[in-house]
Order: sequence, then C-alpha cells, then structure tokens
Amino acid sequence: MAEYREVPIYDIPLRLQGKDDKVHKRPKPHIDAATYKSNYQASITKVDEFWGKLGRETIDWDVPFKTVRHGDFEKGDVAWFPEGQLNASYNCVDRWAYKCPDKTAIIWEADEPGQGKEITYKELLSEVSQVANALLDMGIRKGDAVIVYLPMIPEAAIALLACARIGAVHSVVFAGFSADSLRDRTVDCDARVVITTDEGKRGGRTIATKSIVDAALKECPKVEHCLVVKRTGSNVEWQEGRDKWWHEAAAAQRPYCPPVPVSSEDPLFILYTSGSTGKPKGVVHTTAGYLLGTALTVKHIFDVHEDDRFACMADVGWITGHSYIVYGPLMNGITTLIFESTPVYPTASRYWEVVARHKITQFYTAPTSIRLLRRLGEEHVQGHDLSSLRIIGTVGEPINPEAWDWYNENVGKKECAVVDTYWQTETGAHMIAPFPGATKTKPGAATVPFWGVELALLDPTSGQVLEGNEVEGVLAVKQPWPSMARTIKGDHQRFLDVYMKPYPGYYFTGDGAARDKDGYIWIKGRVDDVCNVSGHRIGTAEIESALIQHPGVSESAVVGVPDEVTGQSICAYVALKPSFSYDSEDALVKELVLQVRRNIGPFAAPKMILIVNDLPKTRSGKIMRRILRKIASNEADQLGDLSSLADPSVVEKLKGDWLKKA
Ligand code: ATP
Ligand code: MG
Repeated sequence: MAEYREVPIYDIPLRLQGKDDKVHKRPKPHIDAATYKSNYQASITKVDEFWGKLGRETIDWDVPFKTVRHGDFEKGDVAWFPEGQLNASYNCVDRWAYKCPDKTAIIWEADEPGQGKEITYKELLSEVSQVANALLDMGIRKGDAVIVYLPMIPEAAIALLACARIGAVHSVVFAGFSADSLRDRTVDCDARVVITTDEGKRGGRTIATKSIVDAALKECPKVEHCLVVKRTGSNVEWQEGRDKWWHEAAAAQRPYCPPVPVSSEDPLFILYTSGSTGKPKGVVHTTAGYLLGTALTVKHIFDVHEDDRFACMADVGWITGHSYIVYGPLMNGITTLIFESTPVYPTASRYWEVVARHKITQFYTAPTSIRLLRRLGEEHVQGHDLSSLRIIGTVGEPINPEAWDWYNENVGKKECAVVDTYWQTETGAHMIAPFPGATKTKPGAATVPFWGVELALLDPTSGQVLEGNEVEGVLAVKQPWPSMARTIKGDHQRFLDVYMKPYPGYYFTGDGAARDKDGYIWIKGRVDDVCNVSGHRIGTAEIESALIQHPGVSESAVVGVPDEVTGQSICAYVALKPSFSYDSEDALVKELVLQVRRNIGPFAAPKMILIVNDLPKTRSGKIMRRILRKIASNEADQLGDLSSLADPSVVEKLKGDWLKKA
C-alpha cells in the first residue's frame, strides 16, 4: 500500500463553534464527536429502534409504518418502513407553507447576474399544486413516468414536486443530452409526458431544448403531451394537441392539489447514472427511505439550521441536484438556490458573487469546478464577502489534497468546515463524509461513514474482509441503508449482477478505498481504474494527487495500460494551468515523473506522460478514464457508449495527440 501524504488534522472550524455568538450568531453544530459515535453504533446494531425513531421524527406520515426494515442485498428485496404511507411533496412543501409561509423556499439565480427571483413556501405550494393538477388533467396518475428535460430554472424543482404530489415518477434527463439520449431514456421509462422549455440559457448561450425534444419525440410513440415552460420567448415549433404552455396549463388550475399518499416503497424517481464507466443505468429510488437519507444528511453533514441558505451548484439532472437542491434542503424547510449559469460566466468570480449576494451558508460543488477555479487563480475569489459561509462541500470525484487545501484556504478562509462527501446515484445520499463539529478532517479523505452505513473493505480477489486499519481494498457495504436504490428500471437482474453479485452478501460500490491509521476512509477511485504495476496496486487518485502538486498542473488523469513486463504500466494525461510556461516538454515530463517518484515511490512513476489541453469528461464533469485507457492501449476504435461525453471534440484531439506521441 502506498504511503499517504502526511496531512494536518484540522480542528473544528471557528465559524462552527459559535464562540462569537454575539457577533455572528452562528448556530451551534447539532452533534459532537461522542454523539456521532454512539449514534453510529446504534444505527447499525439497533436498526429498528434507531431508524424507527428517526423515521417518525423526520417524516410526516399519512399512515404510520409498523416494520422498519425488511429484505436483504442478495434478493434485492430491501424495503424500509413498508406499511407506511406518505407524500414527498407534502413533506417538502406543505409542512413549511403552513408553518412559515413567507420564508423563501427557492432562490433562483438566473444566467445573467442579478436576474432571477425568490419563491416563498406559500407560493411554492400554489405553483406545485397547479402543475400537479395540470398533470392530472393530462391523464397522469400514480405510478406514471414523466420526463423532465429542464434547465436550471425554478420550474425544475416545481416539476419534480408536482410529480411527487400525485405519485407520478419523475425521470430527469440533464438538459444537455442529445435528442438520441433523451429518446432512449424516454422510451426506457415508458413516459407519457415530457416537460421542457422553449429554450434554455447557460453561460450566455442559448440551448434549443424544445427542438431537441421535438426530435426525440419523433421516436417516442407513447408520449402524449409536452409541457413547455416559456424561458426565452423565442418562436418554437408547436404541435397542436401535444404541446401545452406551462403557464397556461397551470393558470387554468386550482392552486391547491391534495397530495396523494403513496407507499414508502413506491418509486419516487428514476435517474440515469453519469455513465463514467459504461452505459448509464436507470436507477430507481423509492419514497420514504430516500427522503429520510437526504433530509438527515442535509441536516448533519451540512449542519443545517432553520435560517440557512443552501447553495448546491450541481445540475438537477444529476443525483446531487435531486438530493441536495430539491429534496434534502426542502425536507429541512430551509432556503435552496437554483443556479442557471456556470462558474465562469460572465467571470470566474460568479460563484463568489452568488454567495455574497444571497448570503449563502452552505456551498456545495464538485472537484472539477474547484480545479477549474484554482487553475484560473485566487484573485477571482478575493474581494467577495464570503463571511456568511459555514460549510463548503465537494462531491463527484476524489478531491486531491491540493485542491482541498485551495478550497479551504481561499473559499473557506480556514474558518469553514470542508465536507468531502462520498456517495453515488445508487446510494441516494451521502455515505462517507465528515460531520462538521464532530469529525476532524484531513484533506483528501472522505473520513467516516454516515449513520446506517456499515462499510467493509474487501480483498478484491478473495472477497475476504480486511479487518483493522492501514488496509486497502474494494469498498462495500454490509447491510441495507434507507436511501439505497431498489432496482434498475426494467432490469432487476442487472441490479443484482452489478451491485450484489460481485461480493455476495455485500453491496459493491465499484470504488477502491483505504482505511488509514486513524480509521479514516480514503477513496482511491474506481476499481476498474486501479493500476497494478509489478504487483503493486495503485489507485489513480493517488498518482493524480501527486501530479497536481506540481505548480504547473491544473488537472490530470491516470490510467493503467497493458505492459508485457510489469503487467500494467502507468500512463498520465496532464493538463497545465494557462499561466504556466515552460521551455522544454521533455524537461517538464521528467519533473512530473520525479514528482510522482518522490511522493509515492518509484513503482508509481508514469511510463508515459502526455501533455494535453483538455480531458474527456462526462456531462456532470467527471473524467472518463475508460476512454483514456482505450486510447493509451491503442484501442481508440472501441470506445463504447459515449452518450454521456460532454465534448466529443476533446476525444478526437486526444486521439491525434496520442498518435503523434506514440
Ligand atoms: P456510472 O455508474 O454510470 O459509471 P458514475 O459512477 O460516475 O457513473 P455517479 O453515481 O454520479 O455516476 O457517481 C458516483 C461515483 O462518483 C462514485 O462511485 C465515485 O467513484 C465517485 N465519487 C463521488 N463522490 C466522491 C467523493 N467524494 N470522493 C471520491 N469519489 C467520489
Ligand atoms: Mg457508478
């Protein structure tokens, strides 16, 4: 096992301690270290008692549950709170519309700075009700699927809640996907209604959402209606009978719609994974367990209090948007932000303007954005009032300690809790993350498991449990937890094959991880990406973290390629900061190799380093290493499913670069 960079253990950040209550009125963290520990033990050993209590406290039930948990991984028949009935929209909206009607539920920050609006809980209840009634009018009933192909406008949240209100199952397709990808997902879900906009706005550009939908629907015979939000007002093609304007359909409806109680185990939504490793999977989440997981993680991992203003910068097209823009924050009755633009529009200060303008208390983004902003320089962060922030979070990929430090110093000013949250589309909510106020952090470590998440590190070949600390293996989970996915749409066997079969009795995450001497978990990247050089297993994340410590490097991606002598050898793709200049590429490559040798050891040294402009990423911003592996293995003709690739031209360029070098 490779050695870790020695890192300081940060103490509980100042802004959380509430010491200077009089000045800042900072709320006190919900829990301390001892409570975390005792709760954690209870959550995995006294499952009925622990989760029964939290289930009753966190959710308002129409019909109370009797059983807390049923089923196991092997059959994939996991059910939580099975006799219970509830409504997600009631829990996210009505409760607060009655208790604090004038509180802002949604802040919308539109593409152009300063534009946008705020929606109170009272208004949200009316709007959700009207759209729910409009869907009922279109014949949508409990269990029917609705496709949501919307950019980041308040209607995205409203659409999800309107579906949930009548028991319909939403399936959001990120509004950047092509017509073909949209068609495949629409057909896969059997959707009868698609919700979209005339056009979308993002980073000053216009996205022709309606015409993409029109193209997709040519081959979706089951879709009867298309509900269109007017965003730009441009002329769009219109199919009479099928297409309806959102504002007209809603205005015709009564602004109250009784929420339809559904079973705890009725599906709330279907969502396709990002597709980093292959063909996206239509993951199905059910209602009660998912709501409980998102509500509790927002409360505890983001240390949320009543008056907080929460900004998750993900897109609602990904699980992060579902759990941490819509359901988790609204389950807690706080204010959530919907951000239509990009981190660099109109300037690289956009995020920080948003934080200052809306007095954001929690800020949540992905390593890809952090690395991008680090690359552009800290001057863009300076001069913005970020003093409202208490918690800054990251999700999506392993965060390199270097990027973590940058985030902590420049954004958190070393006074915020940095929460690196490890989880997946399939897990619904955070699995491993620090509890601010309770968990000391280490840059680059996801730290400790959330309640109910009983982790195991397994030997990848034998499947044996690796006990104790200072071990590394594949990351698995030992018992069902409330917010886990229940199946893959239309293919339960694939669900079992992918997650339950590889290590019987466990849920298999597909990720490699290590437990350090203090019992902290470090995510090492995908198991498929782990390189094996002369018998040494090395996670890609580790080598990438070594490379990014070089002052010129903005981002890197490491893959293992077949090697006759060593089994595999390491190939690194490295992107440089625009401000960095160098004389000779050969000398730079030597420096980079040295950097890895020094940091990790000679066995980890890349055999090949390719300096590139850009790395291929999913539309959610994750590096697609499988593409890089194929290119480096001279198999660029077998790249597989590329539907989730954000920019195909990057791959073409890389293929060319590779041919020149190899
Ligand atoms: P697909 O399953 O289709 O290949 P995907 O795995 O990228 O796509 P997601 O569910 O969006 O789809 O991503 C989950 C994965 O992201 C995790 O399995 C892990 O590899 C990575 N990940 C998420 N958060 C973290 C984190 N904080 N640290 C390290 N890795 C993370
Ligand atoms: Mg995955």
